[in-house]
Order: sequence, then C-alpha cells, then structure tokens
Amino acid sequence: MHTHASPSGASPPGAPAFAVERTLGRLGKWLRLLGFDALLETECPPAKFPQRCGEGRILLTRTRRVLAALPERAAIFIRADDPFAQAAQVLRELGLSACDLRPFSRCLRCNLPIEAIGRQQARGAVPDYVWQTAPGFGRCPRCLRLYWAGTHTARSLERIQRLFEARP
Ligand SMILES: [Zn+2]
Repeated sequence: MHTHASPSGASPPGAPAFAVERTLGRLGKWLRLLGFDALLETECPPAKFPQRCGEGRILLTRTRRVLAALPERAAIFIRADDPFAQAAQVLRELGLSACDLRPFSRCLRCNLPIEAIGRQQARGAVPDYVWQTAPGFGRCPRCLRLYWAGTHTARSLERIQRLFEARP
C-alpha cells in the first residue's frame, strides 16, 4: 500500500480490464502494478479463458489469427518483446495517461484491489522498522499479503513515468 494509491484501491470508473494471453504474463504483472484488472490466461482454467475475454475485457494477444477473429477494439496486438515496451504500447493505444493509473493498488498475485488496513493490524506482521516508518498499510483480501510503501517506490514511480516517454 502506498500513500499515493486511491483510498479504496479500486480502479477509476471506466478503467479498462484486460485478458492476457499465455505468452504475455510479464506484461500482465506490469498492468496489475499500474492498478489495472488483468486476468492472466495462465491463471485461468483453459475452458474459461475465452469466455472471460468476452466479459468486456480487452484481449492482449501476440497471435494475429486470434486478433482477426475478434471485433475491432476487443483486442490489442502486442508488437514489442519487452514487457515495459508492451505496457507502453497498451497505454498509448488506449490513450491512457498517468492520471488513469493507480500504481501499487492491486495484489500482483491475485489481481484484487488491496484494502487499506489500520496500523495496529499491521503490527507484528511486518518488520518493526517498517511498522514504525511506513505511512500506511494495505492487505490483499484473498492471499492476505501485506503491502506498504517501501524504498522501491520512488524508483518505481520514475519507471512508470518513463512509460509515457517511451514513445517509438
Ligand atoms: Zn493477493
């Protein structure tokens, strides 16, 4: 959980949700880090994945055959090999800007919004120095993993900013 995350940790209204093809797992994790709902094919029962794609999710694919079979805007064909460049492409194609992101508001493992918890609830569950210094804590409602603002935050935010500069 980070101080700049929205209080509820939820995506802003109208935020796109994604279904991410098997080969694009690292891109999917990037999108979760940015706060987007990103369903990974690798975490979904095989029979269920195509069906979930139809639930208003934008399919991210590297398969032209799959792309051709779908209505326009239902899928994005990912060109780059590097997950960072792939994430930049998705943001660009959807016309998203930094204010559409909710970085660090979603559990990277479970794809669920992180819920804010009180300091007392975090006590004993995180290292003492973290408990004393972190401005706030959050918890994934499913895996119960704790999140807090760490030293990596400034660097991660810089990297996120560069997503919008990495325009080919
Ligand atoms: Zn989780």
